[in-house]
Amino acid sequence: MGTLKVLMDDFSHIICKPCNEQLVPTTVELVYLASRFSVELPACPKCGKVFIPKDLAVNKMLEVEKLLEDK
Ligand SMILES: [Zn+2]
Repeated sequence: MGTLKVLMDDFSHIICKPCNEQLVPTTVELVYLASRFSVELPACPKCGKVFIPKDLAVNKMLEVEKLLEDK
């Protein structure tokens, strides 16, 4: 499975507060329901903290779950 592009919104306004760095799109590996996904998420280039929008976490995971169930 390739990298899921889940970023629909512009997140360039999001700043990592402790570092005062702008977040950049980063491919991160998630494990969900015993499956591994590569997902592109905004992350701080300095400390590596990944930002997951709340609605994305809920909606996209439901979508992923559906994809898995369809198999
Ligand atoms: Zn940071």
